[in-house]
Amino acid sequence: MAEVLVLVDHVDGEVKKSTFELLTAARALGEASAVVVGTPGTAGKVKDALASYGAAKVYAAESDDATGYLVTPKVDALATVAEQASPAAVLVSATADGKEVSGRLAIRLGGAVLVDAVGVNADGSVDQSIFGGAFSVKSKAAKGTPVVSVRPGAVEAEQADGAAAEETVALPAVDPAKSAKVTGVEPVVGGDRPELTEASIVVSGGRGVGSAEKFDVVEKLADSLGAAVGASRAAVDSGYYPAQFQVGQTGKTVSPQLYVALGISGAIQHRAGMQTSKTIVAVNKDAEAPIFEIADFGVVGDLFDVAPQLTDEVAKRKG
Ligand SMILES: Cc1cc2nc3c(=O)[nH]c(=O)nc-3n(C[C@H](O)[C@H](O)[C@H](O)COP(=O)(O)OP(=O)(O)OC[C@H]3O[C@@H](n4cnc5c(N)ncnc54)[C@H](O)[C@@H]3O)c2cc1C
Repeated sequence: MAEVLVLVDHVDGEVKKSTFELLTAARALGEASAVVVGTPGTAGKVKDALASYGAAKVYAAESDDATGYLVTPKVDALATVAEQASPAAVLVSATADGKEVSGRLAIRLGGAVLVDAVGVNADGSVDQSIFGGAFSVKSKAAKGTPVVSVRPGAVEAEQADGAAAEETVALPAVDPAKSAKVTGVEPVVGGDRPELTEASIVVSGGRGVGSAEKFDVVEKLADSLGAAVGASRAAVDSGYYPAQFQVGQTGKTVSPQLYVALGISGAIQHRAGMQTSKTIVAVNKDAEAPIFEIADFGVVGDLFDVAPQLTDEVAKRKG
């Protein structure tokens, strides 16, 4: 069975959920092989987690430079493994980093890049949701090794036993004259909430929330559900919530199990970032708001009446 390479996203020895989704998607095409790029010792830390999502092989591309040069070491590692393994495809997460890796890698391999896939099929085609979700498309690479970036949250991760046989990959030395060096890393202090693109529940607020202070009604509901907080662009542009939480075409793409939209009209650019969510709940005082066209459950009402009641009800059920 052909190998399918998966680039592992990891932070501090923990594998990100999107990687488990990639390993699951890879198994539709062949044998999933994980490629770990990191400082020495990283692969050992993440191997068991990768095995539990079906990684038959774990390629360890480790060097002290691996995290010091933006995406170059990841592209080098994938290109090196792809040359020796002739995989059926290479899968990476469609994050900012992943998209850059996929473009550069496709050029190196002389293959095709399929961007922002929401599904990977056994015949090598991928599903994409394009033009703000207005069309569903199936695409297939016409030549070479396909490099596919897969939207985080679009594929449901399923556990499977994998042997996770480790193989060492020699990373070529990075040419500092051609690469940007990372000179410092400062993690953003994000509190206890889950990361927006990884969360299984997202509660977002829009312009209807009315002010930065009133956004605590969104945060309270999110915290009762253990959810991440998101915002529409209008809410961000109005200064109600920071830009890194924007959901939509020019913000983050999320695909949680549950998406709650409070005071969001449902413009196409917002929908582009959330409409593949499994269940969508909308609260809006305008019964004609377009968000209701894609909502599974809709409440026509004032969010300041509805959201606190929902928060209390969730708290009661938990207690
Ligand atoms: C190129 C481009 C890119 C864009 N990218 C994005 C993007 O990434 N993300 C994004 O979100 N938008 C994006 N937009 C903007 C988008 O077109 C909309 O303007 C924006 O999504 C509207 O945000 P909103 O729904 O919060 O605000 P509005 O459209 O003003 O809607 C507010 C809603 O709140 C309701 N409401 C008001 N008060 C209450 C209340 N008390 N209780 C309940 N409901 C209430 C109203 O009925 C209304 O439906 C983009 C636009 C362009 C042109």
